[in-house]
Amino acid sequence: MSTRSLQEQLLRPALLASHAYAVAESAGLIKLDAMENPYGLPDSLRSAWLENLREAELNRYPTPRPTELLHALAEHGGIPAGMELMLGNGSDELIQILISAVAGAGRPILAVDPCFVMYRVIAEQQGLVYHSVPLDDNFQLDLPAFLDEMARRNPAIVFLDWPNNPSGQMHPVESLEAICAGAPGLVVVDEAYHAFSEESFAGHLGRWPNLLLLRTLSKEGLAGLRLGYLAGPKAWIRELDKLRLPYNINILTQKSIAFALQHAEVLALQAAEIRAQREVVLQRLQELGVQVWPSRANFLLFAVPGRAAAIHSGLKEAGVLIKAFTGHPRLGDYLRVSIGTPTENRTFLAALEKLL
Ligand code: PMP
Repeated sequence: MSTRSLQEQLLRPALLASHAYAVAESAGLIKLDAMENPYGLPDSLRSAWLENLREAELNRYPTPRPTELLHALAEHGGIPAGMELMLGNGSDELIQILISAVAGAGRPILAVDPCFVMYRVIAEQQGLVYHSVPLDDNFQLDLPAFLDEMARRNPAIVFLDWPNNPSGQMHPVESLEAICAGAPGLVVVDEAYHAFSEESFAGHLGRWPNLLLLRTLSKEGLAGLRLGYLAGPKAWIRELDKLRLPYNINILTQKSIAFALQHAEVLALQAAEIRAQREVVLQRLQELGVQVWPSRANFLLFAVPGRAAAIHSGLKEAGVLIKAFTGHPRLGDYLRVSIGTPTENRTFLAALEKLL
């Protein structure tokens, strides 16, 4: 009789060896760890939003392909005509669908290092090999090295977060163009921080048949609703959509997103305020003598060599939660702070100043 547990007998070794995605406990803290918009829906809109939800038929399944919402999202996101959209329960779900779609091809996933952690996590969960090309010390892309690695590894998918999480850097458009032109598989440009970067690769959709664009509404102020979308040529979206569970976007999310898009100017003003605050926080960190990288996203990465863990926990004691990269082979000396309200940012900066 086997002495292995039923879990060990049945579950994939890669799953048994992996760890669940850890989310830090944030109760009672100023939450600057997860790139959320600190503002939320203004009070002036809350009752209209709730009124809108009253019509939701909770006894019915949601519309599997909400055409009007897809159009509104395409318009809001500046997606060129002729491209198709597919919705995900957060863009995380779309990354999972993309990776599971190519899981049988025997080809790896390629990204840069560092980048959004879920590309690796999901690839490894699905049993795919994951490779990355290091960004340089200033988090810039080494294009020749990337193109070489791409030719050598023959990836099924290249993921490029643009701006890059956690550095906030944007690789030059010409580099993205060269990668699209040379890629032997799909290229997914992940514009999660598009509201803060004021630049988009969306206009290039259709120029290469292997280019897809990934977006999320999480960073713009709607993280609680969980909605992301993938845009690209119909030939891809039609196939990928077969892997989407039929009712993945619930009725409350559908209605709330449609409502929010009708008031998109509110989200745009909040994003502008966050961008302005990002420059204030950047300048203050520089005045404090901290090495920090200008960012095109709603967060800043900064280096505190040898002191990241102490500063992270000191900030927590002062009531401020930011992101540390404990155990990361490259980011152990770095911390990442999301941009909050002016008051939250001041509290963070004052607490940091005391700890430095
Ligand atoms: N892409 C990038 C680059 C991210 O940083 C994140 C969130 N941290 C996501 C995708 C996932 O966002 P969501 O699942 O909330 O849409």
